[in-house]
Amino acid sequence: MTTKAQSYLTHFRNIGIAAHIDAGKTTTTERILYYTGRTHNIGEVHDGAATMDWMEQERERGITITAAATTAKWKHSGSGEEYTVNIIDTPGHVDFTIEVERSMRVLDGAVAVFDSSQGVEPQSETVWRQADRYGVPRIAFSNKMDKTGASFELVLGDIRERLGAIPAPIQYPMGQESDFKGIIDIVRQRAHTYTNDLGTDIQESDVPAEYADKVAEMRAQLIEAAAEVDEDVMMKFLEGEEPTVEELVAAIRKGTIEKRIFPVLCGSALKNKGVQLLLDAVVDYLPSPLEVPAIKGTLEDSEETREFPADPEGKLAALAFKIMADPYVGRLTFVRIYSGTLQSGSYVYNATKEKRDRVGRLLRMHANSREEVTELKAGELGAVIGLKDAGTGNTLIGDGDERVLLESIDVPEPVIKLAIEPKTKADQEKMGIGLQKLAEEDPTFRVESDQESGQTTISGMGELHLEILVDRLKREYKVDANVGAPQVAYRETITRAVDVEGKFVRQSGGRGQFGHVKIKAEPLEPGAGFVFENAVVGGTVPREFVGPAQ
Ligand code: GDP
Repeated sequence: MTTKAQSYLTHFRNIGIAAHIDAGKTTTTERILYYTGRTHNIGEVHDGAATMDWMEQERERGITITAAATTAKWKHSGSGEEYTVNIIDTPGHVDFTIEVERSMRVLDGAVAVFDSSQGVEPQSETVWRQADRYGVPRIAFSNKMDKTGASFELVLGDIRERLGAIPAPIQYPMGQESDFKGIIDIVRQRAHTYTNDLGTDIQESDVPAEYADKVAEMRAQLIEAAAEVDEDVMMKFLEGEEPTVEELVAAIRKGTIEKRIFPVLCGSALKNKGVQLLLDAVVDYLPSPLEVPAIKGTLEDSEETREFPADPEGKLAALAFKIMADPYVGRLTFVRIYSGTLQSGSYVYNATKEKRDRVGRLLRMHANSREEVTELKAGELGAVIGLKDAGTGNTLIGDGDERVLLESIDVPEPVIKLAIEPKTKADQEKMGIGLQKLAEEDPTFRVESDQESGQTTISGMGELHLEILVDRLKREYKVDANVGAPQVAYRETITRAVDVEGKFVRQSGGRGQFGHVKIKAEPLEPGAGFVFENAVVGGTVPREFVGPAQ
């Protein structure tokens, strides 16, 4: 039962937008922030105007590294009610898997963005599997419907074949590629036609005659899928009656939260088509913090567990999920509050570090501004200024409360290592300090120094990961460094190998980090050739991606 104190949570959605690099995650996020009214210019992603990718480097490389949490408001077009949508940024590159991991831990639902001309790409598969592992309900957005080669059917087929999930299209595109004109809402049987590329002029109408049969067929399938998860819809279905729109939405919502239904939407973020409908779908189908299982904690020194349901009046339970050095205020600790209320100026207990720590100021981050608040309540995400010891994955509880550790974030072992030395010997100490600070922010980045040789080595999740950190060392700490050749710190982890025809080859070995099955990939017949699927980095292996055990 929802208490009065918890009622605001029904209008909360904590979501991540996950995708393969280049699928359009940044553009989609930007448009979402634009339509939620917090940003006022639609910036092209790679021209430096993107709001989420605000680190200089990210702009240059066009990838998202930081997992910032941004708060936005959305008024549902149907009900007119206002919702708080917290967007937790997830990166699209394999080297930053830890970032994906930590965002998966703190979000309640996800939007998986696919490039309709590419279908489901390897990295999208990885992200999908991570979402499976964390039990994250999700909806899929088939983006770039305007692009040459775009095909909604391709995405639906790939979701079925590559992801092994049953897609439930709740929309159908009117035209594809340069002919992409609009979107049919299959649930409500309404057509949304866009007369320009700015998303400012949208006409709503009945389903055009040419699409009527197709839409009727798809709606019948959708109702059947909904009937599988909802008794009321099933009863009506058996009696040959149609559910009402509200009943159908409620059933799809139930199925999505139970991860038995994956609604699929389509659109073009770049051409401003379908983003408002996507936001409505986030509200319609993704869970509120009250609809996800309560986070569990284990009592210190015992096996006993405690649950922390989302309740602002409950005991404080929060997870630090990202540490960031901020040029203005110093160290920012991003937290998700699961239960209770975090007050500025209060003391908390860091159960992971076994230390008391003081909360200074609290910030709610918006796309273009920061709002200072005096408290963050259950279900909210925000940043804390002042915490000295909190690291990624640390549990924060009330000072003096029963000591529990929340389920944390898996930190994978680094896979690649290289020697580093400053170009100028005098910079040795400065380099040490810089590397230490960078390692504090990123638990997958390790720094070691060999006492005998005096050599410093750094290790991380891949060449790009280390390259970026060496770059940051130069920019932020003004230390120019030379690096040696990469060595493999942790050899290949492959979850599955298939031969050239897609036939499963073999897998061997036990569970490693992330719960991966380590396998030795060898063709069954000599010379048959094979390709790796889910192969991790590590210099000698084709870098496809990381995935959980099959
Ligand atoms: P990310 O790497 O997933 O964040 O992808 P971006 O949002 O940076 O987009 C990658 C590229 O695809 C950019 O050049 C975008 O302009 C382009 N793009 C994004 N969305 C669309 C779309 O809907 N249609 C087309 N044609 N291009 C898009």
